Amino acid sequence: MQGLMMADQLRVAGVIEHAAKWHSDAEIVSRLPEGGLHRYTYADAHQRSKQLANALLKIGIANGDRVATIAWNTHRHFELYYGVAGIGAVCHTINPRLFPEQLVYIINHAEDRLLFFDLTFLPLVERLAPLCPTVEKWVLMAAAKHLPVGSELPGLCSYEDLLSAESPDYEWPMFDENTACSLCYTSGTTDQPKGVLYSHRSTLLHAMAISLPDALNCSALDVIMPVVPMFHVNAWGLPYAAPLNGAKLVLPGAGMDAASLYELFESEGVTFSAGVPTIWLGLLQFMREGKHKFSTLRRTVVGGSSCPPALMLAFEEELGVTIKHAWGMTETSPLGTAGHLKTKHQSLNSADSLAVRAKQGRAVFGVDMKIVGDNGHELPHDGVAFGDLLVRGPWVVADYFRSGTPGELTADGWFRTGDVATIDLDGFMQITDRSKDVIKSGGEWISSIDLENLAVAHPAVAEAAVIGVPSAKWSERPLLIVVRRPGMDVSAEDLLAFFKGKVAKFSEPDAVEFVEQLPHTATGKLLKTQLRKDFAGYSVA
Ligand code: ADP
Repeated sequence: MQGLMMADQLRVAGVIEHAAKWHSDAEIVSRLPEGGLHRYTYADAHQRSKQLANALLKIGIANGDRVATIAWNTHRHFELYYGVAGIGAVCHTINPRLFPEQLVYIINHAEDRLLFFDLTFLPLVERLAPLCPTVEKWVLMAAAKHLPVGSELPGLCSYEDLLSAESPDYEWPMFDENTACSLCYTSGTTDQPKGVLYSHRSTLLHAMAISLPDALNCSALDVIMPVVPMFHVNAWGLPYAAPLNGAKLVLPGAGMDAASLYELFESEGVTFSAGVPTIWLGLLQFMREGKHKFSTLRRTVVGGSSCPPALMLAFEEELGVTIKHAWGMTETSPLGTAGHLKTKHQSLNSADSLAVRAKQGRAVFGVDMKIVGDNGHELPHDGVAFGDLLVRGPWVVADYFRSGTPGELTADGWFRTGDVATIDLDGFMQITDRSKDVIKSGGEWISSIDLENLAVAHPAVAEAAVIGVPSAKWSERPLLIVVRRPGMDVSAEDLLAFFKGKVAKFSEPDAVEFVEQLPHTATGKLLKTQLRKDFAGYSVA
């Protein structure tokens, strides 16, 4: 027997329609890549998204066509999220920090028909265009006065011209909620980039789930500033969750440096933010140096890489900002787990509470997870046993876009994350490593993340990475690679001594090397493949 409820389909356009109707005066504030601040409301954003929809239809963009963006977090990028998906086409957000060869690969693989880009990326797209024959039209996301003279980009026009020629009269069409709405390629940390094709249904379920109190806790009372870029897994869903809840949205544009971010946090009254650990490490240094304080920022979610407990503590004690640790992947839309305490944890002392919150957190409803051993058998939730982390749920990838290789999932339908984790009795998952980064020493597995987290707790360490290097006796041993804090000195011996008694003896690093900077991926993660190349041939006694 079927239920007797309306069979309305979940669609991305429904979110902006809702915000325009019920939170019409809530603002979107953007820092523009071409200079200045732009300020308008959800009602205005809705009108312009419909103008964009009319423009796309006039160009001949049809259901399922890919429309790409190479753009910062701005109101125009926000309109593209809604205008493109709203007509049934696919908004393909491209990460400009990838290598040019990867960008060309991605654009050709996706067969993007249009490409919208910010002024900052003009030199980049001019290099890409001759290698991307499927792109019929390149659209500069700015007013016509910023158009370059003599450019050979095919069909080049300005975004503002495109919109101003169109009427805002448009009815968003109804279609199956399983229709694709956006496309995001993994950053290829471990492999060639692979496309994850989200549906309207997966996007909306994810946006509702991340809004929950124990997840990211979004409300109309919030002023949300995603510092995570809109080309990094849809800014973790916040451009959907903010209008869905009627929160004011602040979009920092190209200004991702600490001083520019701080200025916006203060001037726009931001209460809640989100970003990778590198951003917060940089911001912490800036806040300390200038003895700055936040007037309104109270919470932030940190994910993408492991958040060092020392960073959580510093934000809380020095700046009054709570960090919530979260885990996810491009393949999980991205939110999988969030580190929200349970009632039983309320009475813990601060060190024990931090130890729980430093884990990657509990499964959000909609994402199921398990850890399995080498033979595929499920391992116990005792916080000790660790194995491959598998997940499943309505916003977890079933197959990659045009992968040509079915069977990314286990036979019983779970997605292999490539992460190694423990799960404790209370359901808190802790990533011990990426399977390719685990250090296998004798019969023991050493977590590089644990050692990195500990290293950055040392006052003279700005950033740290740990990789396995060959050892005749143990097969692999941990090498600690450190960037010192400016103006601070510390020796390898001091650092090695710092680990004594804090980790099991076999896990202590064998050697320390100092570098000026560490290599990062396009999404701000440590690029360990590069470090392994840089330290190839290094071996410990
Ligand atoms: P890519 O896989 O291309 O680097 P993703 O952004 O999808 O891009 O990365 C997902 C991976 O990032 C996860 O599989 C995990 O290894 C890592 N990750 C994400 N969040 C965390 C976290 N809170 N702690 C540790 N690792 C994390």
